[in-house]
Amino acid sequence: MRGGSVAVVGGSIAGCAAALAASRGGAGRITVFERADDRLRDRGVGIGLHDDRYEELRSAGYLAPEIPWAPLTERVWSTRDGEAEHGRVVGVQPFPFRAYNWGSLWSELRRRVPDDVSYRTGVTVTGVEPDADGVTLRLADGYEEHFDVVIGADGYRSVIREAMFPGVGAAYAGYIGWRGTSPDVTGLPSDGHSAHNIVFPGGHCMAYRIPDGTGGHRLNWILYTTPPPAGGPAPGPSTADRGAPGSVPPGGLSPELTAHLRALVTEHFPPYWADKLLRTPAESTFIQPIYDVEVPHYTSGRMALVGDAATVTRPHIGAGSVKALQDANALEAAWAAGSSWKEVLERYDAERGPVGSAMVALARGMGAAQVENTPDWSAMGQAEFDAWWQGQNKGSDRRSGFGGHSIKPR
Ligand SMILES: Cc1cc2nc3c(=O)[nH]c(=O)nc-3n(C[C@H](O)[C@H](O)[C@H](O)COP(=O)(O)OP(=O)(O)OC[C@H]3O[C@@H](n4cnc5c(N)ncnc54)[C@H](O)[C@@H]3O)c2cc1C
Repeated sequence: MRGGSVAVVGGSIAGCAAALAASRGGAGRITVFERADDRLRDRGVGIGLHDDRYEELRSAGYLAPEIPWAPLTERVWSTRDGEAEHGRVVGVQPFPFRAYNWGSLWSELRRRVPDDVSYRTGVTVTGVEPDADGVTLRLADGYEEHFDVVIGADGYRSVIREAMFPGVGAAYAGYIGWRGTSPDVTGLPSDGHSAHNIVFPGGHCMAYRIPDGTGGHRLNWILYTTPPPAGGPAPGPSTADRGAPGSVPPGGLSPELTAHLRALVTEHFPPYWADKLLRTPAESTFIQPIYDVEVPHYTSGRMALVGDAATVTRPHIGAGSVKALQDANALEAAWAAGSSWKEVLERYDAERGPVGSAMVALARGMGAAQVENTPDWSAMGQAEFDAWWQGQNKGSDRRSGFGGHSIKPR
C-alpha cells in the first residue's frame, strides 16, 4: 500500500516508531501531533530491555547500538533483616537486560523519524471523526484536517482509542509506582551490574543503574505499593479512565502520601536501600498509577493503535517499550504486505492483538503476586523463590514471558 496521508497522534516512543514504520511502509504524507513541547527528552527515567528483544529490534532497524546503555546480568531480591546493611537475599535470578535512560531512547527514535515527516509539537488533538474514507482530526486551536489513516500513539489515556472503542479505558490496578532517579550510585553491589528488587509486605521496589545521558550513571528506582485511602493521588481529568488517579509530577506529592511512602521505606527497607531512596531529591521523584489497558482490536475502520494507547501492561513484566517498538515493526510489515488500507490494518490487528492481550494477562498475574498478594518473604529462600517465580510465568509460552514477546518464531 503506497501513498496516502497518515496522522500519528502522540510523538513519544510509540509515536516516533510508528512514524518511522509508516514512512518505511510507503505512506505519502505523514504528520505527527505531539501535545508536549520539545521538553519530552527531559524524562530521565529508566527503561529496561531484554537482551534478546533488543537484538530483534536492532536487526529490524528500530534500535541502535550507539544509544547509551548499562548492562544488567542478574536480579537480586532482598528483604530487610534487622540492621544488616543490604538485608537478606531471598532469591537471585538471571536478568539479561540493557538499562536505558528514557530520554536517550526517545532521542534516537526521534532522530530516526525521516525529515519529510512533519513532527508538530505543542499540538493537542481534541476531536476524532471517522468516516468511510478516513478520519478528521480536530486540534485544540480549532484547526481540522482529514487523513486517510490515523495511528493512535497517544498513551494510556488515548483519544483515538476512545473514538474507536468508547468506554474502553484504563483500569486502575489499585496501586501506584513511586519513581525516582538519584545521582548517588556509590557502593552499588556488584558494581552496578545487578538489578535489585527490595521486597516488603504489599509490594516491591526495583532499582538499577541507568546512563545519565552525559557519560555517568544514575540510580533508577520504582516502588510499587497500595496508597493509603486518604492522601493518595487524585482522580485524573479524563472520563475515559473511570475516574482513576492521574500521575503526580515531580515535586507534586501530597504531604500525606510523602509521609506514608517515607515511613514504609524506613520500616521495611535494608538500611543501604532506605538511604538511597530517602536521599533522592524530591524534584526527581514522581508517581505513576498502575493500569491495565486491553482493547478488543488494535484497529477499527481507518484507525490503528500502537504502544500504550493499544495495551498497557503492568511494568513488572519489563516490556512496555519493547511492545511499542514491536507494534511499529508489525505495522511496517503489514504495510509492505497489504494492497489496501483494509488489508494493511487487518494484518496488523491479527498480528498484534493476541500478543497485546497475552502480555496484559501475564503482567496482571505478576502484579497480583508481587504487590497485591505478596508471599511471606521472611519464609523464602532460593528454592521457594524459584517455585513462586515459576507460578507467575504459567501463562508464558516459548515466545512470551518476562521481558516481552519474541517476534521471531522459535
Ligand atoms: C513505572 C513504569 C515503568 C516502566 N518500565 C519499563 C521498562 O523497564 N521497560 C519497558 O520496556 N517499558 C517500561 N514501561 C513502559 C513504557 O514506558 C511504555 O510502555 C512505552 O514508553 C510506550 O509508551 P507510548 O509511547 O505508547 O506512550 P507515552 O510515552 O505515554 O506517549 C504518549 C504521547 O502522546 C502524547 N499525547 C497524548 N494525548 C495526546 C493528544 N490528545 N494529542 C497529542 N498528543 C497526545 C503525550 O504527550 C505523549 O508524549 C514502564 C512504564 C511505567 C509506568
